[in-house]
Parts: sequence; structure tokens; C-alpha cells
Amino acid sequence: MDVVVIGGGQAGLSAAYHLRRTGFVPVRQAAEGDRTFVVLDANDRAGGAWQHRWESLRMATVNGIHELPGFAVPPLGDDESSRDALPPYFAAYEQRFDLDVQRPVRVRAVRRADDDPAGRLVVDTDRGSWSARYVINATGTWTRPFLPHYPGRDRFAGRQLHVADYVSATEFTGQRVGIVGAGISAVQLLDEISRVADTVWFTRREPEWSDEPFDIPARVAAIAGVEERVRRGLPPGSVISVTGMHWTPWARAAQARGVLVRHPMFASLEEGGARMPDGSFEPLDAILWATGFRAAVDHLAPLRLRTPEGGIRAADSRALDEPRLFLIGYGPSQSTIGANRAGRDAVRAIVRDEALLTA
Ligand SMILES: Cc1cc2nc3c(=O)[nH]c(=O)nc-3n(C[C@H](O)[C@H](O)[C@H](O)COP(=O)(O)OP(=O)(O)OC[C@H]3O[C@@H](n4cnc5c(N)ncnc54)[C@H](O)[C@@H]3O)c2cc1C
Repeated sequence: MDVVVIGGGQAGLSAAYHLRRTGFVPVRQAAEGDRTFVVLDANDRAGGAWQHRWESLRMATVNGIHELPGFAVPPLGDDESSRDALPPYFAAYEQRFDLDVQRPVRVRAVRRADDDPAGRLVVDTDRGSWSARYVINATGTWTRPFLPHYPGRDRFAGRQLHVADYVSATEFTGQRVGIVGAGISAVQLLDEISRVADTVWFTRREPEWSDEPFDIPARVAAIAGVEERVRRGLPPGSVISVTGMHWTPWARAAQARGVLVRHPMFASLEEGGARMPDGSFEPLDAILWATGFRAAVDHLAPLRLRTPEGGIRAADSRALDEPRLFLIGYGPSQSTIGANRAGRDAVRAIVRDEALLTA
């Protein structure tokens, strides 16, 4: 096997598309002498993380998705739920380019085959092991929801959930709900839950709202910031930490309804609610943690690439301490357009390596 792609979301499919285009063949269809690849995906069906996002995340409220390379997204209504609308597009994409994604296959570990003179990487899965010259890791973040630790978190008797487990606002009808986080998902869910419940919004810092459109120079600057973090081996950090929040019509409407009233983070949780830093108490029935995700890279642990700061040093999607490994949809490429580009660039780098080796 030449290339194992781990993950069949936007990033993994982009890589598979470019592998196909440069003459690599899915391993199940390969003939003697073909350069081969395989895409391993833990989900039962196509669509990457989109299939799991909450029902109320509509095409109008996603930030704007970028189509996969070489195949336009069919026209979708603003009102369509992204989790219903996008997976069929991904499935059609896999078929159209015959990417032969193998699923459900969960990768448990990637390790070095030190006894192999060809210096391969071994990919251990719940369906056996693969040995590859290159691994393109495209496992996203959805499977690693992040919950910060606060004293008393285990004592709180109400319901706690992360946005990854959020289904719909109606579950909270008539309740008093604490929503933690300063990102887009916190604000979107605050907007919709506040229509059926009392909400209390907790953030660590005062959210920084910008009236400026998040235009191309702003995006380039934000991406360059994350690129630098990743090159230095720092954890990539949340998108909001580099972009800030930009007013949208729906956020303005929520503000006009008086919903975007921010409270500082609570000092601790108690059985019936949150103890505030000034000693006051906020009774709560439920807490929704909109506190983001981390890169799903635990299976790379045997490669020992983590820096003391907790990141993996990478530049142009390639791990600096393991050149056979690419990380796409990671750090600066953690967007649909970034994932597309990183998939293309990883394949170009592999092709360049091969040209150098055969020159
Ligand atoms: C709520 C939310 C909304 C977003 N909205 C937007 C938006 O509007 N526009 C935008 O550009 N970006 C958005 N993003 C960012 C988004 O994450 C990326 O844009 C992109 O969709 C991610 O694609 P991906 O391929 O990197 O990851 P995913 O779509 O998560 O795909 C990763 C795949 O890897 C598989 N996988 C994971 N671990 C393993 C394993 N160990 N073994 C095998 N397979 C594995 C998973 O099953 C999954 O199929 C959003 C993110 C979130 C959380």
C-alpha cells in the first residue's frame, strides 16, 4: 500500500480525489504495479461530521461551506438541515470519482514499522492492519468534544451536555439553561434555546464582536496565525480565538431580543446551579457546553509527535517530525476550503517525493 487516508470527511475525500487524479488506484481495484491508496472511515456512511451535526444547523446558519474539488454542491435551500443535505452530496461524490471508501473502519493506532527496511508506517484498525509509505490523517475534530474542568462539575445534578450531543431546543422547554462558550455555536444555540427557555450565557472573556466583514485579508491573517502556532507545535486553538466574532443579521436579532447578555464564568458548580465569583448563585436545570473540539489525533500517539505544549509540529500539512505523515483538516486547514487545499497539497508533496526518489 502506498497511501492510507484516515477519515472520509471533506479533507479525506479531497485527498482521495487528488490521489485518483494523479494515478493512484483504490487498493481493492488495483492491478499489479499500480500505486495504491485506501480511505478508512469510522462512520457507517458518507458525510464526515456533517451527518452528526444538530438538526437546526441549517444551510443558512453554517458559515458557508465550500464544495469538494471537481463536483459542485447541488442547489440547497437555506432552510435545509446541513446534516440531511450534505451527506447525500458526499455519497454522490464518492461514487462519481470511485473513491471506494472502506467503512466502518476505525483506526486505533499509527506506528512506525521499525523492523521494515522500507520504513513504513503501520495503521492498526478494528479490521486489521495496513502498512503504508504515507499516511494522510484527516480525522477532523467532531469525535473529540472538549469540556473544560470546573470545580463541582460532577456535583451538578441537572443535565450537562456538549454541543456534539445537542439535538434540539425543545428538550429544554421551560427550563433554565446555562450556555458556556463564546463561539458561533454558543451564540447560535443561545439564540434558539432562548426562544423556549431561560438562558444564562457564560464566557471566560467578554466576547469581542466586530462590525468588519470577515473578508479575505482578515481570513488570510487568521489562517497565518494558526499556521504559525502549528509550526511551533502549539495546539491549533479555536477559530474564534483568532477571528473574533463577526456580527451577522441573526446575531444582531438575538442581541435586539436581549439574549446576548454575557456573564463571567462561574467559580464552581453545585447541585442546583452555578456559584458565581461574587458569591451569588445562578440556579440551572441544564448546562450546555459549547466549548469546542480538539483534533482527533489520539491514534497517532505511538508516533510520539506531541510537543510538551500539546500540539504536533507541522508545516504545509506535513508533520515536521514524521515526514511520512500529513495532517489535513488540522489547524490552519480546519475549514471546508482549507481541507480541500490541504488534501491537494499533501498529494502534491507525495508526488514530488516520488519524483525525487526516481530521479
Ligand atoms: C458545528 C460545526 C460547524 C462547522 N461549520 C463549518 C462551515 O460552515 N464551514 C466550514 O468551512 N467549516 C465548518 N466547520 C469546520 C469543519 O470541521 C470543516 O470545515 C470540515 O467539514 C471538516 O472536515 P474534515 O474532513 O476535516 O472532518 P470531518 O468531517 O469530521 O471528517 C472526519 C472523518 O474522519 C473519521 N474518523 C475520525 N477518527 C477516525 C479514526 N480513528 N479512524 C477512522 N476514521 C476516523 C470520522 O468518522 C469522519 O468521517 C464546522 C465545524 C463544526 C464543529
